[in-house]
Amino acid sequence: KFITIEGPDGAGKTTVIKKLVEKLTARGMIELFVTREPGGSAISEQIREVILDVNNTAMDARTEALLYAAARRQHLVEKIIPALEAGKLVICDRFIDSSLAYQGIARNIPTDEIWAINRFAIQDYLPDLTLLIDVPAEVGLKRIYAAKDNRQFDRLDQEGLAFHNMVRQAFLSFEKEEERMILIDGTQDIDTVVDDCIQVLETHKMI
Ligand code: C5P
Ligand code: MG
Repeated sequence: KFITIEGPDGAGKTTVIKKLVEKLTARGMIELFVTREPGGSAISEQIREVILDVNNTAMDARTEALLYAAARRQHLVEKIIPALEAGKLVICDRFIDSSLAYQGIARNIPTDEIWAINRFAIQDYLPDLTLLIDVPAEVGLKRIYAAKDNRQFDRLDQEGLAFHNMVRQAFLSFEKEEERMILIDGTQDIDTVVDDCIQVLETHKMI
């Protein structure tokens, strides 16, 4: 099964995944493959560096969208598909919904065009289930600021609160339309968020 975790910056996706893995590992039984986007394979991590370089101010939005799709393709083929074929439970930090939210809605490229390049990139490999960890944009940005992740903060600061609000609203609207997406309240304490995730995975027979 292929699970993706989505949500705005500062939603806690990475921390939630870390704790989720601890809890699932403690139970045994399922073999996990945990990964993230953009990146996850050597070539895709190189593409990530280009995309996330704050000095690349000349980056065109469509170029960026293509780079994300390219990184996704390589990561999928090199890592995700083999793990799925080996029967592992794949947990991926961000996937196509991030492209629809960031490159589509927030960077103002029609989402059907984002879908088109991503269908080319991922073919039929849509996630079986997507956990949307939701927090208001201000909450997410405050967390990142508090964590003093300067590199990330420089980028977020350039983009501003309005941008991150758009991202959040985009995710929420996808969740309403997509049956595979489940909303999780990311403002709760971390253990509650993780327990909610586990409960959803159980209900949907992913674990
Ligand atoms: O998931 P993570 O926080 O590591 O993502 C790194 C950055 O990449 C985030 O700040 C996010 O704004 C950006 N991103 C993006 N489009 C995507 C995926 C991530 O703009 N499709
Ligand atoms: Mg993260």
